[in-house]
Order: sequence, then structure tokens, then C-alpha cells
Amino acid sequence: MSTSVVTRFAPSPTGYLHIGGARTALFNWLYARHTGGKMLLRIEDTDRERSTAQAIDAIFEGLRWLGLSWDDEVVMQSTRIARHQEIAHALLAAGRAYYCYATPEELAEMREKARAQGRPPRYDGRWRDRDPSEAPAGIKPVVRLKAPQTGETVVEDQVQGRVVFPNSDLDDLVLLRSDGTPTYMLSVVVDDHDMGVTHIIRGDDHLTNAARQTHIYLGMGWDVPGFAHVPLIHGPDGAKLSKRHGALGVEAYRAMGYLPEAMRNYLVRLGWAHGDDEIMSLDQMIAWFDLPGIGRSPARFDFTKLENLNGHYIRHKDDAALLDALIAVLPVIEGGPAMLAKLDDGMRERLLAAMPGLKERAKTLVELAGNASFLFAERPLALDEKAQALLDTEARRLLGRLIPRLEQVGAWQPGPLEQIVRQLADEEGLKLGKIAQPLRAALTGTTVSPGIFDVLSVLGRDEALARLGDQAVPA
Ligand code: GLU
Repeated sequence: MSTSVVTRFAPSPTGYLHIGGARTALFNWLYARHTGGKMLLRIEDTDRERSTAQAIDAIFEGLRWLGLSWDDEVVMQSTRIARHQEIAHALLAAGRAYYCYATPEELAEMREKARAQGRPPRYDGRWRDRDPSEAPAGIKPVVRLKAPQTGETVVEDQVQGRVVFPNSDLDDLVLLRSDGTPTYMLSVVVDDHDMGVTHIIRGDDHLTNAARQTHIYLGMGWDVPGFAHVPLIHGPDGAKLSKRHGALGVEAYRAMGYLPEAMRNYLVRLGWAHGDDEIMSLDQMIAWFDLPGIGRSPARFDFTKLENLNGHYIRHKDDAALLDALIAVLPVIEGGPAMLAKLDDGMRERLLAAMPGLKERAKTLVELAGNASFLFAERPLALDEKAQALLDTEARRLLGRLIPRLEQVGAWQPGPLEQIVRQLADEEGLKLGKIAQPLRAALTGTTVSPGIFDVLSVLGRDEALARLGDQAVPA
């Protein structure tokens, strides 16, 4: 039999692919790629109310954006209910499960008693060995697993190590509810078994479930898969990740202007490390990723690190590819749709020409779009307050003296343009900044922009001279 690795990502559709889920998916994907195995995708859509088509699409979209492709057909858990029920009945037939007729009042009493004794609520197993002929009339039973009551259950976890659970802490879990529907615990085990999953990599909030699920595997005589329970992501202050800390869907990160490659690189380092390597290519991640490198303590989410990493990926991205990434995100960022509306071939060319200057200054695509907005501005430019203040009469006169010189330039390129501006500064006995600042204000309407000679050049002769003409007064 082949021992090829099969991992799976098994999200419940909640309306988005949240950041913790994205990391779980990435780890499963990397482990599958690293071992030459497969990663399967199972949508745990048994909560029919929450599992709308839209919520399911958000997961597909999020995975696609991150570049995490899954193998084989997606498994929809809700289509497998009959199979889950079949296994519960097989366990019943084998004497590994039983009908439990405990009434809600009895269960409440058990909980009450446990609470009074300071123990976690546990079902006391009162129907384990009772004959169903004793069943009270009018009660629809649940099906419970006959779990061992003494001894211990060991989860050999590839992250957490050997975790031992006293069986007295694990009661007889419900497999089928009284309406016959399977529980999450049963469905997960049956699906993982049927899908041939060899490694379950998921959040450590499922660690106790692993012990309970082990009993179902053993009850069926099935191989127990390998487990790797990854510590959850915490906020920078060590507290559980909240919205404020970044517990958002990946689509929110996309809209904040992060590149998927930066996001992947950030996520892989969140709880896993390969020495001190911060920046890794996808090939390196695949080559290096392994389960023992996952840490046992919760990783802390740090927006500043993510931003810096994103800045790195922006700076190193090919200009044309960066332009494509920018254009792709315009529909979802503020001011983006207006830019998109003006994006003709000429504008595309200007943007591409401006990219070397723009990418040095932006940590996100949103910032980059903001810095590029001068290209889209319409004449006469609206000046911001600082630009307004800079353009006093003297500055406007300087521009007036500069224009005829610029009109004479041979090639409208940063080099020759710079030469002309410097020459004027020399002749006027001014520092270069004294001309460069008003020039920037007139060309961009602001006081921050890429290098001013790049701006001048990228705008093109006609547009640049026209913008200067709008602000200049005769010398
Ligand atoms: N659907 C579960 C969740 O989203 C994951 C179950 C599992 O990985 O076993 O938390």
C-alpha cells in the first residue's frame, strides 16, 4: 500500500477565510507539497444556515488568492450524512455504540452534580449496558460511542508531543443526535478516513477532540492518522486574536493592499521557522517546511512585520507584474474605481514608467495607488494645504522662469530635465530644493511624491508643462 501523504483543510464556512484558517491551509498545503502528497479540501457545511453559497465561495476565493490549490474534488460534508449514519449503525452493531435515552432533565442533573463537585460536565454512561427494552416511551434516543472508562488515551502529536488524556475525562460522546443527524465528531472521523487522510494539521483548539476522535477510529478498527495541532495565533499583546489585532478574512488583507506572496511568507513564519530565514521563495518554503519546525507556543500577529514584508515584496516585484497586481486590486480599494475608469493605454504606460519610483515608497498597494494618484489628477490640480503654502508668489515666478527652459529640452527624460532645473537653481543662487518643492507642488498637488525628475518625466511633456502653466505667474 502506498504511504503517500494526504492532508486536508476542513473549514466551516463562516463568510470568510479568516487568517488562522489561511495559515492552517498553508501548512497543510506546504506539507503535502513538501512530501509529494496531496492536500484535499473539505467544506464542513453541516450548519446549513451559515453555509451559504457566498460563505463557501469566500473560502475558495481566499485560497485561490493565496495560491493554495487543492487536489481532487472538493468534498462537501453535508452530502455524506448517510455515510456518517451508516458508520454509527456499524458501531451499534459491533457493540461499540449504544442508544441513550437519558432525558434532558437527567442530563441537566448530571451537569449540575458535576458543577457542584467542581468537575467538568460528563455523561455518566447510564445507558451503556442497559437493555433498550427498558427504554422509556416517547423518548427519541441519541447514539453514543462506548468509550473506554478507565486507562488513558494518548495522542502522539507531531507538534505537541505525547499528550495523555485520562479516559475518565472523556465521556461517551454523541454520534447521532435524537433526530438522527450525525455530530461533528463523527462526521470528521468518517470523512477523514474515507478521504484517506494521513495527517491532520489543524488548530490546537481541536486537541481534545483528537483524543475523542481516536476512540471512534479504534472503535471501527481504522488506522489513526498522524496529528499536528498548531498553536493558535495571538495578538501582539499575547491575548487571543481579535478583529483589532488582525483576525480578519484574507479578502480584507487583499483590500488593504497586501500581495499574496507577502501574505504567504508572513503566514508561514507565524508559528513555524526555518532558522532565522525571514524571506523565503515559495520553492524554499516547500523544500524546508516540516512539522517539527512548528513551535509549541502561540505566534503573535504583528502588522508592522507584515507591512515591512509586503514592502519588500513590492520593491522586488517586476514592474509589469506589480502594475497588474495594482490594477487587480483597484476595484476594492478606496479611490480605486475612479482610477480604473481613467485607465486607458496611455495611463497604463505612464503608470508603468512611474513604477520604479513608486515601488520604492510603498508598503502596500493602497499606499502605492495613493502615491500614483498624481498621474490621474485632473487640471487644474486641487492643491493640498501644504502645496498651497509652498506655491507663494516667488515660487510661482520661479516656475514661470523654468517653463521656457523646459520647453527647450531635447529629450523629455529625467537626466536632461534635472540638468535644466539645476542650471536654473545655480543661476538664481538657490538650493535645488527651492525649485524642486514648488515643482512638486505644481505637478502633483502635494508635497510628497516619487523623485521629482521622475514625476516630470512620467507625466510627459504636454501634461507636465500644462500643470506648471496652471500655477506659474510671469517672471
Ligand atoms: N471545521 C473545523 C473548523 O473549522 C475544523 C475541523 C478539523 O480540522 O478537524 O474549526
